[in-house]
Amino acid sequence: MIAENVNNIRESITAACIAARRSPESVRLIAVSKAFGHDVIAEVVRAGVFDIGENYVQEIVEKRERLHDERIRWHFIGHLQSNKVKYVAEWIHLVHSVDSLSVAAELERRGAKIGRALDVLVEVNTSGEASKFGVDPGNAAEFVGAVSRFPHVRVRGLMTIGPFLPDPEESRPAFRALKGIFDGIKKGGIGREPMEHLSMGMTHDFRVAIEEGSTMVRIGTAIFGPRKES
Ligand SMILES: *Cc1c(COP(=O)(O)O)cnc(C)c1O
Repeated sequence: MIAENVNNIRESITAACIAARRSPESVRLIAVSKAFGHDVIAEVVRAGVFDIGENYVQEIVEKRERLHDERIRWHFIGHLQSNKVKYVAEWIHLVHSVDSLSVAAELERRGAKIGRALDVLVEVNTSGEASKFGVDPGNAAEFVGAVSRFPHVRVRGLMTIGPFLPDPEESRPAFRALKGIFDGIKKGGIGREPMEHLSMGMTHDFRVAIEEGSTMVRIGTAIFGPRKES
């Protein structure tokens, strides 16, 4: 069933890319496995998905230890606290959710220690919902500039979570705003590295996200099925 779900979502992503006149290779599928076990992740990997996203430090550490698969690129997409950075810094592929200088400073410290720059995205709160993490859209460019002064932290792009509303069209303004901020940062030459990633779009709104320029969609439910309430 997992393999079939993966094939279906892949086809939907490809169709959305073609409809938006974009190359299907320009959008990466990240399987969000929070609340599901390592055995199910192994099935996704067998189906050829090597980008795995997790929200909680304890879960990502445990599952990685269980899986022992060097092909997996682990993405941290939840809220990261500075005191937890040390558990993931050595092997995390991309942290999607940097929104404070204290976390950036801790990533810098760990990156310097292992002698390698850590790749991150800056999370922007585009919907203005108080329950969401992320920097304010108005401060995003300045924040990217500030994080880019850390030599061992590379800002590779931006991430946002659309509003939790059933109609995917309700997410469009948030996604369009993120793309606007992204283009502004690139045009302004802010940051040291080329910004290339826009992490936006989940199971219910990934089509709209692709229309608005997403390069990474974070898909949980469409692959793993509904999560049990925790
Ligand atoms: C859970 C989660 C997802 C996946 O959501 P689905 O609606 O199940 O696809 C994506 N991004 C973040 C940040 C999440 O917490």
